[in-house]
Amino acid sequence: MVAREPSAEKASAIAKTAAPALLRWYDANRRHLPWRSDGTTKPDPYRVWLSEIMLQQTTVRTVIPYYGAFTTRFPTLKHLAEAPLESVLQSWAGLGYYSRGRNLHACAIRVLNDFGGVFSADEAVLRTLPGIGPYTAAAIAAIAFNQRAIVIDGNVERVLSRLFCVEEPLPKAKPLFHTLADTITPSKRPGDFAQAMMDLGATICTPRSPSCDLCPLASLCTARQAGTMERYPLKAPKAKQVNRFGAAFLATRPDGAVLLRTRPEKGLLGGMTEVPSTDFTLESKPADHARSAPLAANWQKHPVPVEHVFTHFRLALTVYAASVPLETAAPPGMRWTERAHLQHEALPTLFRKVLAHQR
Ligand code: SF4
Repeated sequence: MVAREPSAEKASAIAKTAAPALLRWYDANRRHLPWRSDGTTKPDPYRVWLSEIMLQQTTVRTVIPYYGAFTTRFPTLKHLAEAPLESVLQSWAGLGYYSRGRNLHACAIRVLNDFGGVFSADEAVLRTLPGIGPYTAAAIAAIAFNQRAIVIDGNVERVLSRLFCVEEPLPKAKPLFHTLADTITPSKRPGDFAQAMMDLGATICTPRSPSCDLCPLASLCTARQAGTMERYPLKAPKAKQVNRFGAAFLATRPDGAVLLRTRPEKGLLGGMTEVPSTDFTLESKPADHARSAPLAANWQKHPVPVEHVFTHFRLALTVYAASVPLETAAPPGMRWTERAHLQHEALPTLFRKVLAHQR
């Protein structure tokens, strides 16, 4: 349902004139991002795909250095597909959402083995690949292959919600956003249009204090005319954040080596490196910690837990530290890693925090 929606006449005017106005603005104001074509060369589907996966739930500013390092290490899809998963996860470490890193590798292997190393331009085929959902498939089809696809990310939702004064809250409003985006997506230059909408949302139609005076859609924008820009997009109230608890055991030898292990392939942070830890439980169970230590030592509890926020819960991880003799054998499934070699481990941010946690 759209309340205070533009009249049918106005909606039709928006549909007709939004794309040309936006594309003119984009030609002069596009963001120059390392994965984008500069307009004189064709976009590289490998780089478009890689950037879209990296940008899921991560900001452009965070992604840029990772993208640079990643494409230096894996300059083509073939390099990525033929690399061991471990080295891909090492390069991914720090970006979070590690299942994305694993799917990235699986997708590269599928494209190499089943499609001769070439991405399909067909959205439906793209959606069958690991880690590629409807949004990413549409983005690749539009940006890499200039197909008319309906590309809607958070920035685009914000622009549409203001342009049309969408009164239905997210996420319920998603089908409506798809319909509205469909009315304004052009057949010509759909790839540039998708990127223009993203850029407008990221740089002009920002969540707070949008720069409407600079906006190419200002004369069409229903929210601007009503002065209610910041009311949109409406969002359903968030579910309460769940807390979880656990413990990590940081054993260090006199030469500085630390005890590590690889987490199970399936589950949270699957296949990543960890400082040996307990499960992350809904209740705090400090009494169980002593039983979970990987080896016998004089464990000292750090007074302040490491805190980390995952998508669905907030974790408080109690850190126990112990210095152990040089000759201490690593328990089965664990290994000693010298400090200088930690950079080669696929250590997620949580366990980097544990390693940096000093008394
Ligand atoms: S006029 Fe303002 S609120 Fe409307 S789309 Fe442009 S920046 Fe967003």
